[in-house]
Amino acid sequence: MGPEHPESPARIAAIKRHFENIQLNEKMIQVHSEMAYEESVLRVHHPRYVEQLELISPAKGLIQADPDTLMGPHTYDAAYLAAGSGIKAVDDIVEGKYSRAFCAVRPPGHHAEPATTMGFCFFNNIAVAAQHFRSTYNAKKIAIIDFDVHQGNGTVEIFRNVPDVLFCSSFQHPFYPNTHTDIDRPNIINSPLNAYSTGTELMDIWNKHWQPAIEKHQPEFIFISAGFDAHRDDPLGEMNWVSHDYYWLTKRICELADRYCQGRVISMLEGGYNLKSLVVCAEKHVKALMGEEV
Ligand SMILES: [Zn+2]
Repeated sequence: MGPEHPESPARIAAIKRHFENIQLNEKMIQVHSEMAYEESVLRVHHPRYVEQLELISPAKGLIQADPDTLMGPHTYDAAYLAAGSGIKAVDDIVEGKYSRAFCAVRPPGHHAEPATTMGFCFFNNIAVAAQHFRSTYNAKKIAIIDFDVHQGNGTVEIFRNVPDVLFCSSFQHPFYPNTHTDIDRPNIINSPLNAYSTGTELMDIWNKHWQPAIEKHQPEFIFISAGFDAHRDDPLGEMNWVSHDYYWLTKRICELADRYCQGRVISMLEGGYNLKSLVVCAEKHVKALMGEEV
């Protein structure tokens, strides 16, 4: 993304180093990503769009795919790897190799619409993983939880007319991207939050809206767009969540996954730009996925 850009390679390096420092990596199976098949990306994105991305991909230097989103020589491949990570996790989980996965990927995905890059995103990673599961394994009902501080406009656009996909999204409002916040569909649960709101409001959303909706939907798989930029120290968001809020929410999600879908959860990294808070939030989130108490 270029120097000084918040969506930097240091984010993944910091998570990896932190997990090694606290020996969390020793308790989990580490799996390398594989490139997504074009076919799986095309379940979500228009063929012309994917073609165009390849065409504009620079041999050196950086180009601007949109005002927020830069593209270097390796971005196109990285986008395919990020999307492929969720696909690999779906396949492994269905084969019973493990039941939950955290995909530490970039570029992130939830702002990417079928034919638009947006907000540092190229391919909508979580949507590609969800559609891979639904079409490859003849599944219907899934749920996607998005707790990034920014609304997952791309995911809404992709699934707004797919009632079998329940999408629950919390986000600061009004705030970027401010485009898909008043979609009126029973499968789209938008939960806008005021700036400076805390974990208390999050618990409220969960108890009143998300948990009842998931219980009614009875998903066969739960996917998470895990952005950690609602943390109080994040430089982009203006909310006041703390790392334990991510632990609490992830625990609740896992309880429902245990009840309805054999514990199956895939979480994919979205935002989170303060490296110190990012690594601690990711730690708490992953510990909850692993069933550890903190
Ligand atoms: Zn974000």
